[in-house]
Amino acid sequence: MSEEKRLRGVAAAPGIAIGLSYVFTLESDDVMRYPITPGQITDEIARFESALIQTRIQILEMQQQIAEAIGAKDAGIFDAHLLVVEDQSLIDEVLRKLEADHCNVEFVFQEVANRFIASLSKIDDPYLRERALDIQDVTRRVIRNLQGKEARPFLSVEEPHILIAHNLTPSDTATMNREQVRGFALDLGSRTSHTAIMARSLGIPSVVGLHNVTELLTSGSNVLIDGYNGLLIVDPSEETLRAYREIERRQGALTEQLVRLRETKSTTRDGKHIVLSANIELPEEVESVLGQGAEGVGLYRTEFLYLNQSTLPTEEEQFEIYRSVAQRLAPHPLIIRTLDLGGDKISDNIENGDEMNPFLGWRAIRFCLENLDIFKAQLRAILRASVAGNVKMMFPMISGLDEVRSGLAVVAECKEELRREGRVFADDLEIGAMIEIPTAAIVADLLAREVDFFSIGTNDLIQYAVAIDRTNERVAHLYEPTHPGVVRLLKMVADAAHAHDIWVGVCGEMAGEVLFTPLLLGLGMDELSAGASLVPRVKSAVQSLTMTECERLLEEVLQLDTPSAVLARCTELAQKNYPELLN
Ligand code: PEP
Ligand code: MG
Repeated sequence: MSEEKRLRGVAAAPGIAIGLSYVFTLESDDVMRYPITPGQITDEIARFESALIQTRIQILEMQQQIAEAIGAKDAGIFDAHLLVVEDQSLIDEVLRKLEADHCNVEFVFQEVANRFIASLSKIDDPYLRERALDIQDVTRRVIRNLQGKEARPFLSVEEPHILIAHNLTPSDTATMNREQVRGFALDLGSRTSHTAIMARSLGIPSVVGLHNVTELLTSGSNVLIDGYNGLLIVDPSEETLRAYREIERRQGALTEQLVRLRETKSTTRDGKHIVLSANIELPEEVESVLGQGAEGVGLYRTEFLYLNQSTLPTEEEQFEIYRSVAQRLAPHPLIIRTLDLGGDKISDNIENGDEMNPFLGWRAIRFCLENLDIFKAQLRAILRASVAGNVKMMFPMISGLDEVRSGLAVVAECKEELRREGRVFADDLEIGAMIEIPTAAIVADLLAREVDFFSIGTNDLIQYAVAIDRTNERVAHLYEPTHPGVVRLLKMVADAAHAHDIWVGVCGEMAGEVLFTPLLLGLGMDELSAGASLVPRVKSAVQSLTMTECERLLEEVLQLDTPSAVLARCTELAQKNYPELLN
């Protein structure tokens, strides 16, 4: 038995998962095996042939570049590579095995090539050993071409596993095979990276920010993910497994208790009702929003419709989706956030020129105001869907008044067009601004005159206020929601909203953390929107508190001078009122 090892990272999504690891690295040559039907063999052969042609072209290009740079003699080394893609005995063997084994061609090709490499390496002849290296190199290239540049082979793993990777994109997480991925652990990432947010939405226990877990582990190890405390345990002992079974039992009992709150109101002990809604990334999450007892959707991250697609979604496609989500939620509100591509959510369909600082770059409203065709298709779809339920919309990444006014002008233009076309829409649909850039918080009094509500995106607001990349695990410890500067910004926004008689909510991850519920209530937030699975906990916290104690907490906190002092005071109040909700 190997000794148990514990690796500490950042708790990204709660829950416990136990299983065998599957380690995916970008350099990894792991090729998954999956079955194909006899009818698919022709397609596999076609894929193989085009990968060979592509590889041949790549080798010729490389040869040309080398010839231009250092001379034709050195470029000659690629002749041997070209011979590999033209090696008829290798190709014939692949075709024969494809017919015999009925599995995907990259797997078959890898097997055949490995056999060739192994037998050539065994022969004591320097020339043949060189040939083996050539075959290895070309094999890797052919497989990469077969998988496509962006291929993520772990997406097709057919066994239950714990996925260990350097990084995952939010779209990887969205398309992950949820039947098989029991949990994941990543080198990179932090709690507010969109990958972590997706993991929470999908209920996949995860630990991120482990720095070098992909170097420490190999596939097939026994691992346990503790998504509550941010631990990855390798070769857990019997005693550890027993302790975790007990934690699972207690969490199960708590969940059952919280389920009973579903039909109850999120009202404080002294009678203030806080609207408690949920965030979604995918339309199918609506069922869990309702199941967890949320009062609607406070943030629909529509950019997920634009990820993993070969083309951009049309107005009609979006209209159908928004209408169906709005209908299922009615009479509860559906707040659709207009497209927020950029940052860590990049669409293959949009050329963003590999920005140096994507979080400070061409994203969200900035992108939309320069791509009016894409923006208007979405706005028209939202407006048309607005009659199907209680639809509101909001603009992300507003930095000041001009962007709000420009966004509203485009909405007015879309309304005019729809009117001319004789289409129906809710003319009084509420339009809000997300407050997630410090300048927007500072000029919230100006913005409040133009919009119907504010929704504070604390994930971004904190990253920009404290200058901490929200996805970078190295600085994750400095990402502090309780920074006195952040508390003051939140207060400015809430006060400005109320001075202008509009409502204000929080839809960043802070809204789902029960440690901060008293502070957010004390600040006067009218709405909290959290990942659906967190809603029952937040509701339970709200029900345990009084506004009087939350307001007193805020007064005290405004006198404190460090993030840790503010955090300690928040923790104290949470501990007093609902210790069972703190992990
Ligand atoms: C936020 O920034 O807090 C927010 C809710 O938006 P996102 O996490 O999608 O950037
Ligand atoms: Mg944001």
